Amino acid sequence: MQPVSEKLKKELLASIRSVIDYPKPGIVFRDITTLINNPILMNALIDSLKNYYLEMKIDFVVGIESRGFIFGAALAYALSVGFVPVRKKGKLPFTVVSEKYSLEYGFDEVEIHIDAFRDVKSPRVILIDDLIATGGTAQAALRLIESLGANCVEACFLLNLESLGGAKKLREIVKVTNVLDIEVKDGD
Ligand code: AMP
Repeated sequence: MQPVSEKLKKELLASIRSVIDYPKPGIVFRDITTLINNPILMNALIDSLKNYYLEMKIDFVVGIESRGFIFGAALAYALSVGFVPVRKKGKLPFTVVSEKYSLEYGFDEVEIHIDAFRDVKSPRVILIDDLIATGGTAQAALRLIESLGANCVEACFLLNLESLGGAKKLREIVKVTNVLDIEVKDGD
């Protein structure tokens, strides 16, 4: 089952701005600010995701910094469940669990609060971000979720840059739902 109708998919895709050569030459940055400032589209997206996830008995929505916070917090509110942030290293104030992941050059690190899921036993969670490219960030976030004893029922991305292979790899370990799939020939 698709969370979003074909009509809404077309409208969402048209609303996302592509910024060429940002943040560096060769990258096409998918700018979702032109979607989230449109209340009709944003409401339709969150309502569709809410209807899709309502039956799954989710306890928490986990959002990846920073654009995953926007969609994740809105969805958590719509589902009346808690929201948990996964943040870049050094941003969370309390005791954290950390996971490193590889970048093209070097590595990055994401963190989650050790008590993020409060005292809920084996919580059912959804992981959400605006975009999946190589999938490194999402894989690290998934390891954080599992290290706290939670069950990631599904990972959800607004945009999947299919040719970078991240969603395909992530599918080997968790169910993945992409609202929009984009084929990228070069760049990104
Ligand atoms: P990755 O770990 O390679 O899957 O990268 C995913 C993260 O980087 C997400 O948090 C995205 O917001 C961001 N990102 C990667 N590529 C792009 C892009 N072309 N446009 C916008 N955000 C991107």
